[in-house]
Amino acid sequence: MWLKLQRCKKIKMKKQMANIIGGKQIAASISERVMREVILLKHEGIIPKLSVVLVGKDLASEVYARSKEKACVMAGIDFEMHTLAEDTPEGELLDLIRRLNLDKNIHGIMLELPLPIRINKQKIIEAILPVKDVDGVHPVNRGYLLSNGDGLFPATPQSCIELLLQSGIGLAGKHTVLVGRGETVGKPLVFMLLKHNATVTICHTRTKELKKHTRQADILIVAAGKAGLITADLVGPGAVVIDAGINEKPGGGICGDVDFENVCMVASAVSPVPGGVGSLTTVMLQRNLLKAIQLQKKFT
Ligand code: NAP
Repeated sequence: MWLKLQRCKKIKMKKQMANIIGGKQIAASISERVMREVILLKHEGIIPKLSVVLVGKDLASEVYARSKEKACVMAGIDFEMHTLAEDTPEGELLDLIRRLNLDKNIHGIMLELPLPIRINKQKIIEAILPVKDVDGVHPVNRGYLLSNGDGLFPATPQSCIELLLQSGIGLAGKHTVLVGRGETVGKPLVFMLLKHNATVTICHTRTKELKKHTRQADILIVAAGKAGLITADLVGPGAVVIDAGINEKPGGGICGDVDFENVCMVASAVSPVPGGVGSLTTVMLQRNLLKAIQLQKKFT
């Protein structure tokens, strides 16, 4: 019995080897700054307002939109949601976007994705005024990202960078291996990492010998949407692992792409899911809204 206890203790000690990179505390400190800035803007007569557009019935999008509403209310930001029926004509959606573009009281427009398949997603995205595109999806903002310009950039990749920097993990010169080249996380993250002088390797489904690449990483960032993809043998000793994946667990709840418990035994620091990257996303969106206001002041 005593021997068994000692073994358990050893396993526990081993499991606690990696530092946990939690997002909640970092999110709280950014949120405080956002609230202070909202108060200052209100003194100037500006009430920040976010408009979310939702088309059709998508439960996940509705849940995300509601959580944005709750966070906005807490931060003193005005919020409105436009819920359109699944069969809304494309022209009607475009008209709504144009009205929101012209409305001086609205500073940010966020289109919840996915859209119904018959709607041309790119056409709608391109209709959003770039200075109100708080989700950073408009081609103009994508261009600014590539050219180090002053634009609006997607929240989730920004959250990955913020988690690292706020945890005191510098990026300059670090070999950063990214698993995933998706439009939402992986692709924009590449350019943010380069801006911070990381040396970047990008892996995807056509990458041969994934393990050979991931094991070389000083920092491994995963945004693939595949639960359990990153097992402990894919991680080099002492690496920092950031998990941006979100997957639904069969019995309810969510998990990331990383086998958290086992990876904790080899990595020096790991971000959990939930409680890691995802905790920062909403507050990064609010930060984008405040930046959008500054850009709108500059251009009007
Ligand atoms: P996506 O567009 O579906 O892209 C997934 C990427 O992962 C693709 O590049 C794909 O490669 C790659 N991939 C998939 N399976 C792989 C495998 N077995 N080996 C190597 N690469 C693999 O995803 P996304 O929209 O960028 O999102 C990525 C993840 O982030 C998802 O889990 C999503 O739910 C999550 N997410 C989180 C937040 C948050 O707030 N934390 C916000 C948004 C998204 P190919 O290009 O070759 O297909």
